[in-house]
Amino acid sequence: MHLHHATDAIPRPAPHPLLTLHAGASAVFAATLLPPAGWPLALACSLVILAMLLRTLRTQPCRAASGSALLALDLVVFLLCYALRESDADWHVTAFCTLLAAPYAGITRQMLGGAGLAILASLAWLGLQDDIQASNAATLLVFNLAGICTYHSQQRQHREHLLQHAVLAEQAVRDHLTGCYNRRYLDEHLLGAELARSQRHGLCLTAILCDLDHFKRINDARGHAAGDAVLRTFAALLGNATRRGIDSVVRHGGEEFLLILPETDLAGGVRLAERLRASLMPHIGTTASFGVTCIAFAPGSQASGPAALVAAADSLLYQAKHAGRNCVRAAMLEAL
Ligand code: GH3
Ligand code: MG
Ligand code: MG
Repeated sequence: MHLHHATDAIPRPAPHPLLTLHAGASAVFAATLLPPAGWPLALACSLVILAMLLRTLRTQPCRAASGSALLALDLVVFLLCYALRESDADWHVTAFCTLLAAPYAGITRQMLGGAGLAILASLAWLGLQDDIQASNAATLLVFNLAGICTYHSQQRQHREHLLQHAVLAEQAVRDHLTGCYNRRYLDEHLLGAELARSQRHGLCLTAILCDLDHFKRINDARGHAAGDAVLRTFAALLGNATRRGIDSVVRHGGEEFLLILPETDLAGGVRLAERLRASLMPHIGTTASFGVTCIAFAPGSQASGPAALVAAADSLLYQAKHAGRNCVRAAMLEAL
């Protein structure tokens, strides 16, 4: 199913607030800079982290851009601070812990990637410690836990985002009154796909166009809301009478519905139409007319256009109306 038309309008999730915090911590830390020293292990690990970040940035440009920029800034600041002002260990640890939390915050979407960055960063940090103080280790732990929580919240946000996509995509192909497929879905995807599939496998494809008889009278006599209820009931009856996941029910016009029945021959289509016709009155208080047509593909034959199938069903429906309504008219549409 083509779902893309509903998804373009959905904004990407905003960067997590932790990244803003992260930028703030970096700026404060930058203000504390003083004279030089050097840390090869930290530098090596940081280069690996940067390389991983750049890779992430290439594969997920929009998602990762802001986070990666902030993390890169933090790395530079951290290394400078550690090189220039060794005595401020607490500041270093705080900055480094902030750095550790960042990979969790959506810079990489894979837990393994985030954990890899954190381990590398931890190794660099341990390499820089003369003696590991409990308070520093606790800070490190807390920041990592916060990072993991952030990562999970980011993932939840992402899942909700995907769900929203799916709901909107489903709404885009459905008629909101009846829940049937809409005309756009029929024209843009359904009919073309079903014809192509039937042609590929040399199968029959049947279309039934049905239209309620004198529906206008129901609206006039009982009101528009009652007319809507009749349409919903009619759509439900059509849905119940067809095969779930195989057949499709499309609201083709106001009170006109099109059934697309793959792997169904003309006789099967007529049987279904007759069964529907005979059962309607007690449920909706009116009858319907049906035009049934079938295209039978010989293996390797050319597909006739989707328009031809619907036009044939429409002209058969017209014949049924002219024959006095509440009846079925059927004919084969010759495969080209
Ligand atoms: P026929 O037997 O020739 O089909 O007659 P008809 O009255 O069913 O057909 P006609 O085309 O004259 O009228 C169809 C009516 O369906 C007119 C329109 O107001 C009504 N209609 C279309 N869409 C809706 C809808 O969503 N809800 C309701 N309540 N009525 C609708
Ligand atoms: Mg009608
Ligand atoms: Mg009509």
